[in-house]
Amino acid sequence: MEGHAHVTVTLRVCGAARTVTGLSLLFEAPGTRFLVDCGMFQGPKSLKALNYEAFPFEPRALDFVLLTHAHIDHSGLLPKLAKAGFRGPIHATRATRDLCSVMLPDSGHIQEMEVETLNRRNRRRGGMGPVTPIYTAADAKRVIEQFRAVELDEWIELADGVRARYWNAGHMLGSASIELEFAMPGGAPAMRVLVSGDLGPDCSVLQADPEGPAGVDHVICESTYGDEDRRCGTAEERRVRLADIVRKAARRGGALLVPAFAVERAQEVMWDLVTLMDSGQVPDAPIYLDSPLAIRATRIFLRHAATLEEGPALSRALRSPRLRFTETSEQSRAIALEEGFHVIVAGSGMCEAGRIRHHLRNWLPDPRATVLFVGFQAEGTLGRLLRDGAKAVRIQGDTVKVAAHMAEMTDYSGHADGPELGRWIQARGPVRGGVFLVHGEPEAIEGLAKRVTGRGIVPEAAIFRPALDEAFELPAGAPPVRLPAQERRRGSAERLGRPDWHNERAALLLSIERALDDAPDDAARGALLRRLRDVIEPG
Ligand SMILES: [Zn+2]
Repeated sequence: MEGHAHVTVTLRVCGAARTVTGLSLLFEAPGTRFLVDCGMFQGPKSLKALNYEAFPFEPRALDFVLLTHAHIDHSGLLPKLAKAGFRGPIHATRATRDLCSVMLPDSGHIQEMEVETLNRRNRRRGGMGPVTPIYTAADAKRVIEQFRAVELDEWIELADGVRARYWNAGHMLGSASIELEFAMPGGAPAMRVLVSGDLGPDCSVLQADPEGPAGVDHVICESTYGDEDRRCGTAEERRVRLADIVRKAARRGGALLVPAFAVERAQEVMWDLVTLMDSGQVPDAPIYLDSPLAIRATRIFLRHAATLEEGPALSRALRSPRLRFTETSEQSRAIALEEGFHVIVAGSGMCEAGRIRHHLRNWLPDPRATVLFVGFQAEGTLGRLLRDGAKAVRIQGDTVKVAAHMAEMTDYSGHADGPELGRWIQARGPVRGGVFLVHGEPEAIEGLAKRVTGRGIVPEAAIFRPALDEAFELPAGAPPVRLPAQERRRGSAERLGRPDWHNERAALLLSIERALDDAPDDAARGALLRRLRDVIEPG
């Protein structure tokens, strides 16, 4: 290398570092700098606070953004990036662009609503001035103009000596892994990096298995379920399990509520329900899709069905007369008039927002009702409390007793598990540089690291677990070099080191409500409250 021009490529991990949300990777090469993904931080309030802080780079200085897929934890801060002055193109597949055109404005709408509630509370308590939303629905609509469609498997030239190629990641409609190639001087082989994005499971019914190139220099891999080993069932097995739950729900005679993520999960569940009803395996009933976002997403699925495995079957099911799309709030309210067994699919997937909360408030106290969870339920969410068997919950300021039945299916995951991630990394080898594990909680990262090192896929020395804002030099054909610490934001470990007090408070209030409800009489309730007061206000 001595005597030759030296091309330095650096990577800075600006999100999803030892946590699962906010993925954002800053690459710098001579003459250009760009991002792969610009995700929003989700989950506990202390982590979400990062969304309000300044970017750890100058948005105006970026030349372009490459986007792996539409999920908000990968795309959700793009409108904020544009608001902060980024004017360059955002390269994404057509399906990703179409999904973003409904998901980003929906996210903007949620930001506006959250800030409105916060400002109302602050006004009531006095003190703090008004807070402005991270971005609005209008900001989000504007950023869609910056999207440029890319095709899978085709190289796109991005800057002098820098090009990229998108590979199917099998995770959701339009999802991709991104291969980056940086030209090296003097005819030396190019330096290649592969960013996994989120990877789908091998058993996905709709998505082809993830693909990617082999023999890259560096891999940046997600590790969401890196420590899990799930059984991967077929579509038929999945439907058998669903049929059993639906039949039981029908016998109870009330509503079957399915809190579902608006994109992919909702469509897959509706497809299975229609298939089971059409074949007479479960009793007939109307199926309501009560989510404006999911209805819009369903139209996009129909538009891109040809890119999916089983696309024609899915399209037929999504056009079934059994499905009732309730877009307006009047139509949504009218569902409450429905008697007997019926199905309501509504967001949000973890019951933290959306129309599912109204239906839960109506139906939770009713033993004829069934709630079916089909997605991940994060700690501290209403969905997690219900799934874990809470006897009473708080919804919109009311205590709601729970008599409804709870059911769960893990068959609808859009993520690869530990063995699948391990095999995916192995298929990218030989990796001559480093494997960066991102987009996972520390336990998941350790689980995946142990798996790939234990099987001799990658040596321990080549595994990197970047902290937030940590930077590395990525040489061709050699291990990454950790760069001296720059100014770093506090990462998830520092933010989540102590339990998030907001969730602790919610859990405590709920325990008190429950203890009061369960107490035998008013005297016992009075005694309990006095004991609590003695602790909080001693003397
Ligand atoms: Zn995703």
